[in-house]
Amino acid sequence: MPTGFAYSDYFLLHNDQPRIPHFESSDRLIACLDRLSRNNLFPTFYKPDIKPISIEMLSLVHTEYHIQKVQDSAGRRGYFDGDTPFTEDSWLSAFYAAGSGIALVDALVEGKIQNGFSLLRPPGHHAERDRIMGFCMFNNIAVTARYLQINGFKKIFIVDWDVHHGNGTQEIFYSDPDVFYASIHQYPFYPMTGSFDETGFGLGKGTTLNVPMPADSHNSAYIKAFEKKIIPAIEQFRPEVILISAGFDAHKRDPLGGMKVTTLGFEKISDMVLAAAYHICEGRVLSFLEGGYDKDTLAECVDVHLTVLDSFS
Ligand SMILES: [Zn+2]
Repeated sequence: MPTGFAYSDYFLLHNDQPRIPHFESSDRLIACLDRLSRNNLFPTFYKPDIKPISIEMLSLVHTEYHIQKVQDSAGRRGYFDGDTPFTEDSWLSAFYAAGSGIALVDALVEGKIQNGFSLLRPPGHHAERDRIMGFCMFNNIAVTARYLQINGFKKIFIVDWDVHHGNGTQEIFYSDPDVFYASIHQYPFYPMTGSFDETGFGLGKGTTLNVPMPADSHNSAYIKAFEKKIIPAIEQFRPEVILISAGFDAHKRDPLGGMKVTTLGFEKISDMVLAAAYHICEGRVLSFLEGGYDKDTLAECVDVHLTVLDSFS
């Protein structure tokens, strides 16, 4: 079965011309598309039809107030928070970005794909149940996890290797024993959450794993953390599906992150997670773009990540 590749031109509308100056721009996706097309990666992928997500699905994760706030931004320009601008059609990008997770789950359930990746924006892992923040409007991966559960996949494992801690995803599943959230990130760093002693609450105690890393960490430290902590957590939890918050801003060339990971490092950790999925959950992996702000570096990382997904499908 092929790898799914979810992409929509609607993802480009957020902060469209004239742009509010920002790292998180549509140039990121365009650079990825250019590279993937140059390297002829597209013919083997299954491309699901993406629809805007329904309010009903968003309500599985976000409050009515949160959803309304995004809808109310239609046709206007401004800032949701200090880091998160919106323009006239940003809300459309947000609805389609979250919808891409629904489309990938449908394709997975229908047996059309083995695994998949969504080249989306705006990203999602900082968005909390009731808070837009850090370039993120809807928590795309959280909505996908809930939709997987509706489709009969009870236990979900989320791996988040974006350089920033995914405070939103952690908050949403903090007391949920069926969704494991594991994050490796620079610490202390924005958004200042994600210390090692944040491990979940109530029934969810033990299903949050934070692996905070000092600035300037290299591939070797990342690979070791996956070997010693994240992969064993996957093996112990035995999920039915693995989701990846695939941010590439821990790359040494990233202008926002402070890490020293290389493209080869991202290839290696992609391979480790896919290999674990192959043994534990029949290779079911859905991956979602988060950060990565040097566009050519991002394109290179997305290329190797997709090549790894493809090699397991
Ligand atoms: Zn990030």
